[in-house]
Amino acid sequence: QAKSRGRNTYQMFHQSMNDKAERFRILTNDLHQALADNQMTLAYQPIVCLQDRRVILVEALLRWQHDVYGAIPPPDIVTIAENSGQAERLNEWVLQTACRQTMAWRRTGLTEIQISVNISPAMHTRYNLETMVSNVLVQTGLPANKLILEITEDTTMQAVENSLQRLQNLHALGVELALDDFGTGYSSLSQLTLMPFQKLKIDKVFIQQLTPTSKKMSVLKAILTLSQDLGLKVVTEGIETEAQYELMRDAGCQYGQGYLFSKPVEATEVGKMISRDAQQRSDINTFYR
Ligand code: C2E
Ligand code: MG
Ligand code: MG
Ligand code: MG
Repeated sequence: QAKSRGRNTYQMFHQSMNDKAERFRILTNDLHQALADNQMTLAYQPIVCLQDRRVILVEALLRWQHDVYGAIPPPDIVTIAENSGQAERLNEWVLQTACRQTMAWRRTGLTEIQISVNISPAMHTRYNLETMVSNVLVQTGLPANKLILEITEDTTMQAVENSLQRLQNLHALGVELALDDFGTGYSSLSQLTLMPFQKLKIDKVFIQQLTPTSKKMSVLKAILTLSQDLGLKVVTEGIETEAQYELMRDAGCQYGQGYLFSKPVEATEVGKMISRDAQQRSDINTFYR
């Protein structure tokens, strides 16, 4: 009995490994085509200024609706791309699509908005990210200061010396750099002083179960104080409730992102939100003029 159960467990395990491998194999095959014929899309999530809840920038987030496997989680897409030599192509597609979309918003008068694009780890080592970014800016016509590159903490700190030169080259192009998912990896604020980041994105694990007196709050306050001294602007990720919003705003955090403000949505929808806020601001300016 025990033996047969053992074998069943093994078979189930084996089967699920096979399914995983099969899914991986199929997705690897389909990725190339998906990039070519628009099965891949970008969703856009507003990031707001916490003082007035106005949308000031937008993060581009990868979406892939696969015929068989449904919505593929973005980190899976990135892993698949990296393990099959398609990381460069994927990242170029994301950069191009996001910058083009931002140019489309600009043509409707929304010229203030910045776009934030996630850059996958492999970019640091395997090919010239600086050249890719600079080419995309030239091709699309987007001013460099409207582009923000989000780089995850893990990536950056794995090879500090290696990535430092890269980051400095990117910074020299005039794009902004944001350290993504801060607090989940190993970077310290002292390492941050070496890196040319302008923004820090505090991971959503920090905001979960946050209360005014929790230890998390003390850590957050310390991060905010140090960031201010270092000249870094801070974005809090994963704000879902009014209470979380007020805590972070009152603690002096500049920017926020989360379901409370908006989920990641289609480009047209986010365009409407930006223009609504831009309109509001020009109304205020007119009023005080
Ligand atoms: P991230 O860059 O930290 O992006 C934020 C993630 O948090 C997104 O998940 C977003 O949908 C989710 N999120 C936003 N607000 C809330 C909230 O209030 N509550 C909760 N629970 N979640 C919220 P998503 O789109 O599934 O992306 C996951 C990760 O995949 C991203 O984390 C990023 O690391 C990676 N990723 C997404 N798009 C791309 C891409 O185009 N290129 C690369 N290289 N990585 C990407
Ligand atoms: Mg991000
Ligand atoms: Mg993040
Ligand atoms: Mg994340």
